[in-house]
Amino acid sequence: MHQVQRCINREGVVREGLLSTEARTWRVLNIEMRLDEPESQLRDRAARAAGIDPGRVRGCRIARRSVDARRHGKERRLRFIVHADLVIDDGYRGERFDAAVRAGKVVEAPRAERFEVAGALAAGKRAVVVGSGPAGLYAALVLGLNGVAVDLIDRGAELKTRGKDVVRFHRTRVPNPESNLLFGEGGAGTYSDGKLYTRVDDPLEVPCLEMLVACGAPPDIVYDSRAHIGTDKLHKILPVLRGRMEALGVRFHWNTRLDGLVLDGGSPQRVRAVRTSSGDIPCDAVFLAVGHSARDSIRLLHAQGVRVEAKPFQLGVRIEHPQELITRGRYGTGPEAARLGPASYNLICKAEGGVPASFSFCMCPGGTIVSSTNIAGLLCTNGMSNSTHSSRWANAALVTTFGPAEYGPGPFAGVEFQEALERTFFEAGGGDYTAPAQTADDFVAGRLSAATRHSSYTFGTTPGRIDQLLPRLARVAIARALLKYDQQISGFKSAEGLLVGLESRSSGPIRLPRDRETAIADGFANLFPMGEGAGSAGGIMSAAIDGARCALHYVRDGT
Ligand SMILES: Cc1cc2nc3c(=O)[nH]c(=O)nc-3n(C[C@H](O)[C@H](O)[C@H](O)COP(=O)(O)OP(=O)(O)OC[C@H]3O[C@@H](n4cnc5c(N)ncnc54)[C@H](O)[C@@H]3O)c2cc1C
Repeated sequence: MHQVQRCINREGVVREGLLSTEARTWRVLNIEMRLDEPESQLRDRAARAAGIDPGRVRGCRIARRSVDARRHGKERRLRFIVHADLVIDDGYRGERFDAAVRAGKVVEAPRAERFEVAGALAAGKRAVVVGSGPAGLYAALVLGLNGVAVDLIDRGAELKTRGKDVVRFHRTRVPNPESNLLFGEGGAGTYSDGKLYTRVDDPLEVPCLEMLVACGAPPDIVYDSRAHIGTDKLHKILPVLRGRMEALGVRFHWNTRLDGLVLDGGSPQRVRAVRTSSGDIPCDAVFLAVGHSARDSIRLLHAQGVRVEAKPFQLGVRIEHPQELITRGRYGTGPEAARLGPASYNLICKAEGGVPASFSFCMCPGGTIVSSTNIAGLLCTNGMSNSTHSSRWANAALVTTFGPAEYGPGPFAGVEFQEALERTFFEAGGGDYTAPAQTADDFVAGRLSAATRHSSYTFGTTPGRIDQLLPRLARVAIARALLKYDQQISGFKSAEGLLVGLESRSSGPIRLPRDRETAIADGFANLFPMGEGAGSAGGIMSAAIDGARCALHYVRDGT
C-alpha cells in the first residue's frame, strides 16, 4: 500500500502526495530535548530512540511538544518532551526497533481524517448553520467542501462591526445584546487567548488545526501542547477563513437571529425552514451551534419540541496574579526560563473530606480579564490575551462543578441559578460592570480586602466579599484549592492573588440530547445540535471538531 503524505502551506490548503515506495509513519514518544537544542537534531535523536538507522528515515516532523518544568529535589531542569513522527519503509524490521515497539516507546502514528468525503450523499442539498462560532464555522466548511449549499446565520455582526460594538460597550457600559464578546463572527472565542489544546484525541483535530495554519496561524499550533493564537492573530485569520468558505459557496448572513423552526408536524419532526429575524430560509437540514449564552434561543427551541436536559457545569472566580510570580513559580529564576516566555498553569485539587474537587481552567498568561456578557445587568468574567502574551498579568478561572443536586430540578434550573448569581455579582460591584474583588489571602481568611490592587479587568474592581457572594460549595472548594496551589506556586494564595467574579460560563448548564450514531436531535429527522450550546464541547477546538464531525455525519448519510 502506498502512503499518502500530507503537508500544508500558507498558500494552499492540504498538499498530498504519494510516497514513491511503500512507507509507514511511526510515532516515537517522549524524546527529551534541551531548550536550546536545534530542531534539526530531532531526526537523528528520534531515529536513535526508536532503534532505526537514521539513513532509513524518509521524513520527520514534530507530532507533540510540551515543556517539562517538574522539580527533581531542589533542582529544576527545564526541557522539552517531544513526540516525533518518522516515515520509514513499510515492513522495516530490526531488533532494536522491534524492541522499542514492544516496549511502547514507538507506536503507529494515528491517521488524520479528511474533511472531504467520496460520494457524499448530501451533495446538492441545502443546509442552514446557526452560529458562526468554531462549531458552526467548521460544520459550514465541511458541508461546503462536500457540495452542500450552506446559509450560515449569526445574530451578531461581522468582525469589524462587532469590534466597534465591543469598544462601545467598554465606553458606555451598556452591552449590545446581539453583538458583543459572545455573539458575532467567530463566536465566543473571537476575544480570547485562542488556546487550541483539547483533552479529546480525535482524528479531526489535526485537519482543524491545519486549516487555521492555511489561514495564517503559526505552524507550531499543530504540535505545541500549549498552542494558542491570541486575539490579534485570530482577527486576521477569521476573514481569511471566511473568504475560503465564501469561495466554496457558503453564504454568511450577519445580524440574522434564529427565531424559530418551521416544522412538518411529522414523527420524527422534519425542519422545513428556519424562521429568522430577516425572514424564513428553507433547508434540508439545520446545524444548531448557538453557544452556551443563547439562553433565549434555547428556551424558544424547547418550546418547539427540542429536548433540553440539565447538566453539571463549572462555576467560580477568575484569579489574577502578576505574570512574573507565575513564571517564577513554574519555571524558576534560571536563565533557561527566559527562553520559554510567560508560564501558564493547570492546577487540580481533588475532592476530599466532603469538599468537592476544583481546578484551574482557561488560563491566560500575559492576559486581560474581560466581562463576557450579552445581557445588561449580569456580570460574568473570562480571560483573553494577545499572541505575545504581553500584559503584566496572568489570569485563570478557579472553578468547581455544580449539578442538579445543587441547583434543583428542571431543564433550566442551572441557567436560572447561573443568572441569579451573575445578577448578585453585578449588583455587588455597583451595577456598572465594576467587579467585586478580594485578595486570595482575605478570601481564605474571610475578610474584606482594604483596597484592591490594580487588575487588568477592563471595567475596574471594587472590594467585595466574594467569599460570601459565592455559594458555600464554591467557597470551600476554592479556599482549599488556594492553599494547595500555594504549595506548587509560591505566593498563589497571597495578597498578590486577586479574585474577581463571577466566572459562571466556563461551560453550559444544559445539553440537547442527540443520537450517538447520527448526531441528530432526539425526536427530529434533520436537526443537528452541536458545540458548547448543545453540551457537546467545552472549548474552541472541541467545538470545532464537534461541528466538523456532525457535518460529516450528514454528508455521509444524508437524512
Ligand atoms: C472571553 C472568552 C475566552 C475564551 N477563551 C478560550 C480559549 O482560549 N480556548 C478555548 O478553547 N476556549 C475558550 N473560550 C471558550 C470558547 O470560546 C467556546 O467554548 C467556543 O467558542 C464554543 O464554540 P461554539 O461554536 O459551540 O459556540 P460559540 O462560540 O459561543 O458561538 C455561538 C454563535 O452563535 C450565535 N448565535 C447564538 N444564538 C443565535 C441565534 N438565535 N441565531 C443566530 N445566531 C446565534 C452567536 O452570535 C455566536 O456567534 C473562551 C470563551 C470566552 C467567552
